[in-house]
Amino acid sequence: MEIRKLGRSNLQVGVIGFGGIPIQRLEEEDAKKIIALAGKEGVNFIDSARGYGESERLIGKGIEGNRDHWIIATKTMSRDYEAMKRDIEISLTNFGVDTIDLYQFHLVKTKEQLDQILAPDGAYRALKEAQEAGKVREIGITSHNVEVLELAVETDYFSTIQFPYNIVERQGEDLFRRAAERDIGVIIMKPLAGGALDNGSLALRFVLDNPNISVVIPGMDKIEEIYENANVGKTFSPLVEADRVRINEITKQLGTSFCRRCGYCLPCPQSIDIPTQFLMEGYYSRYELQDWAIERYGGLPVKASNCVHCGICESKCPYNLPIREMLKNVVEKLEG
Ligand code: SF4
Ligand code: SF4
Repeated sequence: MEIRKLGRSNLQVGVIGFGGIPIQRLEEEDAKKIIALAGKEGVNFIDSARGYGESERLIGKGIEGNRDHWIIATKTMSRDYEAMKRDIEISLTNFGVDTIDLYQFHLVKTKEQLDQILAPDGAYRALKEAQEAGKVREIGITSHNVEVLELAVETDYFSTIQFPYNIVERQGEDLFRRAAERDIGVIIMKPLAGGALDNGSLALRFVLDNPNISVVIPGMDKIEEIYENANVGKTFSPLVEADRVRINEITKQLGTSFCRRCGYCLPCPQSIDIPTQFLMEGYYSRYELQDWAIERYGGLPVKASNCVHCGICESKCPYNLPIREMLKNVVEKLEG
């Protein structure tokens, strides 16, 4: 497995990490097998969160007896000092470890939230104290908002940032460059664009082709996913012209019409669940599940045809998607 340095932390990470969302679905014995296999295949970075159900506890079981192999990361939505202190203790207990290698602030959405974290009674102080006590090694931050992480990078308070990056979501590239200049580790979530990209190997190679990236963390809960993803890290080769042609085709196909399901456009005054409309359309168009998609769409209480074209959603979509036009396409395909 190719190894990269996780920024100023000096932690040496295998470039393919383990995203810990899907594992919460597994029984304990299956989770242990999956984590053991990932470790055997050279994966050594594993990322969880307080908000991922049983994920921390299952990972704790999975790394039992092999703690030194793993770099454990987790994250919290806590923003104030007391809540953060509680979360650190819960995570330590869940993982069954004395030290968590990386503790991140989870999905910091606004500058106000960042200010709250860094205030004297904010969560950062609790993590700093835990770091001094040896309970936490490094402090990081995650967000879907590029401006928030640009601010975070300039504070110099964080060893890592975590942000989505994939063939159709490239808005973080300047941020990654700036982070690398400041020796801040860059962790990539959503490399497969929430399942919209079906060529997993190409999608992971695209991410790793960027030298500013430290580690990419696809979610994994199946044996074949472990082999396929780990193999990308073991045999990594930079993109060649044929890959770039294929990537450009995918970008053209998805780039200006791809809903990232962030939900920032909600609520719609007509109560349309906008991302779900596009999810159904994706099942219809991308997964060749036409009948199933139409059936599921038929069960939605409010449909794309209820749109009154007020445009409120478009003013809130961070990806500037032409939501009204896209909803017309949903109507044509699924209600036509
Ligand atoms: S344009 Fe349509 S989908 Fe968007 S907020 Fe208005 S009614 Fe809802
Ligand atoms: S339409 Fe835009 S804001 Fe709404 S979920 Fe999709 S990407 Fe997010």
